[in-house]
Amino acid sequence: MTIYCLGSVNADHFYAVPHIPEPGETLAALELTTGLGGKGANQSVAAAKAGAQVIHIGGVGPGSEWIFERLESYGVDTRHIATLDVPTGHAIINVAEDGENAIVILAGANGAQSEDRIAAALQDAGAGDVLLIQNETNCQVEAARVAREKGVEVVYSAAPFDAEAVRAILPATDMLLLNEVEAAQLEKALEQSLFSLPVARIVVTLGAKGARWIDTRSGDSWEVAGTRVEAVDTTGAGDTFAGYLAAALHEGMKPEEAMAFAGKASALKVTRHGTANAIPMRAEVEAFSP
Ligand code: ATP
Repeated sequence: MTIYCLGSVNADHFYAVPHIPEPGETLAALELTTGLGGKGANQSVAAAKAGAQVIHIGGVGPGSEWIFERLESYGVDTRHIATLDVPTGHAIINVAEDGENAIVILAGANGAQSEDRIAAALQDAGAGDVLLIQNETNCQVEAARVAREKGVEVVYSAAPFDAEAVRAILPATDMLLLNEVEAAQLEKALEQSLFSLPVARIVVTLGAKGARWIDTRSGDSWEVAGTRVEAVDTTGAGDTFAGYLAAALHEGMKPEEAMAFAGKASALKVTRHGTANAIPMRAEVEAFSP
């Protein structure tokens, strides 16, 4: 059984700068740090660290050997990440001394997915497998439809949020993941309660407060409480939750247990700086008793 993850793979370039540059200003950066990023890559890494077999589907540009190495070191299968003739998706993140930041993102190869390549990657997929999707590539709806036809369960994490993208993919989705802000935006944009959406299960993450599970068919809804920790960096908390939840449900954990497990994993992540590198391993989550 496999978790396929169609998603973004980014090079995140962090430039330490004295201040955020003004329009027209040229500024010397003090330091450059490059890391692996992208919601897709983060969710693949989280699911792999949770112990699932994960095949990432995506694209990068030339010169991305380090990305393949990094993903493989976390246990992610990269055979369906194509090297394309477009730049690797990347973020240019200026971080000023006072902590303020300004970010420019180029989708690059993340926006160059093709239905044919996705269908080829899903060729051997079937019932019992999961397709995890976010909103940082093209072809999400096509991928969801291909997966559904094969009996693969589709889990869609609606970030970065776009109400029209959610509306388009919902009929081909089994489970929708949102944070609290996205949930409110979606209800407003579609003028519908979450309970009346055409998707069987919805999980709303609530930051430090935990997460809510909604079964739209039965109308049942319950919450798991947040894990109390000293948060130092919440980047990637949502992706850690998504990857861990998909992996836990996929291996047969009951919803209550899977939600608590994903909550513990993401709480542990927020106690550490970084994203993919800071996502905890399963053994660390199991040993974590806050
Ligand atoms: P991000 O965009 O920062 O990755 P998000 O907005 O998608 O996150 P959140 O709801 O903020 O998602 O967080 C996801 C999960 O991470 C929460 O459901 C919770 O389990 C855990 N979490 C986040 N922040 C904290 C915190 N301060 N303390 C404990 N757990 C947290």
